[in-house]
Amino acid sequence: MTARVLVVDDVILNVKFLQAKLTGEYFDVLTATSGPEALEIIHRELPDIVLLDVLMPDMDGFEVCRAIKEDPKTMHIPVVMVTALNQPSDRVAGLEAGADDFLTKPVHDVALFARVRSLARLKVMMDELRNREATGAFFGGSSEEQDNFDFEAKQSQVLIVHDNEASAERIIGHIGETVSAECRIAGEDAAEQAQAGDFDLIIVSLAMAEVDGLRICSRLRSYEETRNVPILVIVDEGGGPELLRALEMGVNDYLVRPIDRLELQARVRTQLKRKHYADQLRESFHLSMQLATTDAVTGAFNRHYISSHLDTLIGAARMKKTPLSLAMLDIDHFKKVNDVYGHATGDRVLHDFAQRIARNIRGVDVLGRYGGEEFVVIMPETAVETAVTIAERIREETEREPFTSASDDGKTLSITVSIGVAELDVEQESGADLFRRADGALYEAKHAGRNRVLTADPAPRIEAVSA
Ligand code: GH3
Ligand code: MG
Ligand code: MG
Repeated sequence: MTARVLVVDDVILNVKFLQAKLTGEYFDVLTATSGPEALEIIHRELPDIVLLDVLMPDMDGFEVCRAIKEDPKTMHIPVVMVTALNQPSDRVAGLEAGADDFLTKPVHDVALFARVRSLARLKVMMDELRNREATGAFFGGSSEEQDNFDFEAKQSQVLIVHDNEASAERIIGHIGETVSAECRIAGEDAAEQAQAGDFDLIIVSLAMAEVDGLRICSRLRSYEETRNVPILVIVDEGGGPELLRALEMGVNDYLVRPIDRLELQARVRTQLKRKHYADQLRESFHLSMQLATTDAVTGAFNRHYISSHLDTLIGAARMKKTPLSLAMLDIDHFKKVNDVYGHATGDRVLHDFAQRIARNIRGVDVLGRYGGEEFVVIMPETAVETAVTIAERIREETEREPFTSASDDGKTLSITVSIGVAELDVEQESGADLFRRADGALYEAKHAGRNRVLTADPAPRIEAVSA
């Protein structure tokens, strides 16, 4: 994880010190020695993170921070206030100015890298969401979902792994002041509890008497269900080798005992924010996948998806040597439905027809809308006899149960469907050829009088050409 970090301090030596450390860890470093200069660079360069000294002449760190957080162009950039040791009042002022985290001088490597990395990860998530929002691409042109995303409104689930109940309760109290969260306390079996639950953050004390906190962190990182849940560890002053091990393991950040309430709150917020942004990204990704692959009227997969997915399923059928069948369905005289009842009723019939098909097939079967009133069903691990039975069931139900019109007049209409079914010739046939044979059977069904299921002729054998 690399990032562009702006270091702001009026003392050149401090700037050089942080610059050297960060450059050594492959961060890109920008520097400024005054508030106005920092703001100018921030506007021009839009860094990923700002490390901001509090005490500067003319314009102090709080003022700079406020200016960053008040400008919509820069408000998303995380700011770390660098404060003198034992200045809790600075922290309050920093938080009020909108700072995201704190570092105390003299700045230690472990703290510096932990803060910068954890905020860089958050920044990546926020940028990605902002990009998608800007292009609107992920929401099919509408960014409604995105605009509604509000971290403050999110309810979070937090697991606290601690052997001292009073301390754990104190932590819960602090968390409750800054975010809306449901907290649970756990001990030895924390990793298993976390695996079964749906947590947004796990706080682990590494100073428990009976329980090995590091082992719990390691389990949390190895379980599929908890791999991406942020972990904050609590360590004793100095942290020692345990803290380094924990950070190497992928623990996201840490707090030193005795816990500073404001630090705890800042770090909890950062971790929860990142988690919720990441979840939101995943959801929007699924939504966009759905929009890109499904048809709006019927909810069935679109032609493009069906064609490419058929190739995947044929590959699997070949490998497992299992049969695969395909049905092509076309509503009979559908033009008349539009002509007599109107286009809205036509759309409604298409939607309801797709629902009926969906009700009659298995979860592994794939329903697609191939064209106007033409649908396909791909049936993996299904031989033609079974496929015909399913097709016949759909045909029969279509004929038997009338459809309703789109106007509220309670009128119903009857339709029928013709279906062509073909089983894949596993050894030699392509998806396109299978489609062609099923379509041929459908054509025959239409010609034979509609409202029927017909199977395709077997695929013609391709004879091996001998020289
Ligand atoms: P056949 O029995 O031979 O299949 O006759 P048909 O009328 O169903 O077939 P044809 O292909 O001639 O006409 C299909 C009609 O489906 C034409 C078009 O108006 C209608 N259609 C296609 N897509 C939609 C849609 O999304 N909504 C509505 N309401 N109608 C559609
Ligand atoms: Mg038709
Ligand atoms: Mg047609």
